[in-house]
Amino acid sequence: MRSSIIEKPPADLRVAPNWSDTAAARAAFSWQVEATGLSGLPGGGLNLAFEAVDRHAAGPRRTHVALRLLGRGERRREVSYGELGRLTSRFANLLTTLGIKPGARLFVLCNRGLELYLGVLGGLKCGCVVAPLFSAFGPEPLETRLRLGEGEVLLTSEALYRRKVAALRDKLPLLRHVLLYDEENGALAVEGTHDLHRLLGEAADEFTVAPTTADSPSLLHFTSGTTGSPKGALHVHGAALTHYVTGKYALDLHPGDVFWCTADPGWVTGTSYGILAPLLLGVTSVVDCADFDAERWYAILERERISVWYTAPTAIRLLMKAGAELARGHRYPALRFVASVGEPLNPEAVWWGQEVLGLPIHDNWWQTETGGIMLANTAAMAIKPGSMGKPLPGIEAAVVEQREDGRLDILGEETLGELALKQPWPGMFRAYLGQEERYRRCFAGDWYLSGDLARRDADGYYWFVGRRDDVIKSAGHLIGPFEVESALLEHPAVAEAAVIGKPDLLLGEMVKAFVSLKGGFAASEALRDDLLGHARKRLGAAVAPKELDFLPSLPRTRSGKLMRRLLKARELGLPEGDTSTLENPS
Ligand code: ATP
Ligand code: MG
Repeated sequence: MRSSIIEKPPADLRVAPNWSDTAAARAAFSWQVEATGLSGLPGGGLNLAFEAVDRHAAGPRRTHVALRLLGRGERRREVSYGELGRLTSRFANLLTTLGIKPGARLFVLCNRGLELYLGVLGGLKCGCVVAPLFSAFGPEPLETRLRLGEGEVLLTSEALYRRKVAALRDKLPLLRHVLLYDEENGALAVEGTHDLHRLLGEAADEFTVAPTTADSPSLLHFTSGTTGSPKGALHVHGAALTHYVTGKYALDLHPGDVFWCTADPGWVTGTSYGILAPLLLGVTSVVDCADFDAERWYAILERERISVWYTAPTAIRLLMKAGAELARGHRYPALRFVASVGEPLNPEAVWWGQEVLGLPIHDNWWQTETGGIMLANTAAMAIKPGSMGKPLPGIEAAVVEQREDGRLDILGEETLGELALKQPWPGMFRAYLGQEERYRRCFAGDWYLSGDLARRDADGYYWFVGRRDDVIKSAGHLIGPFEVESALLEHPAVAEAAVIGKPDLLLGEMVKAFVSLKGGFAASEALRDDLLGHARKRLGAAVAPKELDFLPSLPRTRSGKLMRRLLKARELGLPEGDTSTLENPS
């Protein structure tokens, strides 16, 4: 047993007390590390990037392709594990030369590309706390996050810097260094910044990885801001175990796989599964550096012989919208497993996968806070379309209700309550930056409360009902928006649907729906009646919407989640709150 991997976090890193910090949890963790084949650092301790890259770079997978980067048009570049090991060491050396010490916060504001991987992995090797940012953020959300996260170094492209960061520099006194690169590889000369590629060229290939432990902070991820202001969730290096195990069991990754995760690198999925899990498992990741394009995506699935594909309902919706003909223009013989996360996956989407790709889509559930997949429809079990699946091995989940005195009641089958987790993997977050009280409120005894409402069926599958904040209480009924939205989505005219609770004297709250229409359909009174009638027939009068508005599109976060709170604020004429992650402010 490798007890040296487990150590107390240094006090100066301001990690909130670790709720799984018990002797039993520590012993179990050491055992789990042994069982996965993670090696730990040569001198003791654990480092995510060492496990993801250096372990392979020094072994038989040295020449295996780690990254296959697809540029615009036909451009592509392959990077082996050995090369990735050297390049990330150069990045870590470069940071050290700049005087960056372990524990410093490195922000990464990058589009998909090699620099993103060097920044995240090189930063982790150096012991930095790495914080990815959405490249589509405007200056204000960037400033808030850099300030809250006390960013000391920023890695970004010249174009993003000029457009979004340059004007903020004076307001960020802690930001000591900005590393710039030109996405087109031109010469760089921007005052007050460093030329990344020049410094990389001068740095050495050898680097001794910082002596981090399983409890050292590793990544800072901001939540999507769907239900309120984004929270900064702090994770630790021990999360390597979560990424490894969930990549293996929930995504079914095997050594020969070619894996494609389509998540944006600014969101936790883009790091946990866009960077870390596939590398930890030694597979080849395809990285598409271009924007979404349905035809291009089908071509990638076919040409790159993708075997495991991890995407999201928002992308699947776009593909469905583009029509099945486009998909049938390609063949996917290599494709073996398709999974989705981020939002409820409507049963229609599961069947669409079967029809168009020849494979059903496996939904799974997790959050920024959990750092990795917790519930899943795995390869080893039957999919129940519309369900998030079952807890992964080692995860104890339950549907609970919190009493007035704070104690929890564990609820039985088919009862609506809050989804809770007990002693999950070490990928679990350790703090909400600057919000210790908010962090503590997530826990009750041994349980972590997810804020999502769900029910469990007799076979142990979990069904998403809605966010705790989004649930509607109408005439004594608790109504989950997802169920109502799914019913509306069955109607051929509906592209997107969202429902909210609107205060009503008689009912307490009444259900109000917002829908956007598919191409070829126009809003009309007749269509409104038809939609309301369809919902009544499917759901019954007590649950169906009483009002319905047409909108050109629905407000979503940049990670594709419906912002019901914004629809509600607008409906009730209330302040809109934090809209920093809103995708299309108009
Ligand atoms: P915030 O916490 O700031 O409001 P957020 O919860 O949307 O934002 P994320 O951590 O990115 O931020 O998203 C996690 C949430 O996404 C889950 O709590 C859940 O509500 C939703 N989600 C994720 N996967 C699924 C899924 N398979 N089915 C239903 N909902 C899902
Ligand atoms: Mg959340």
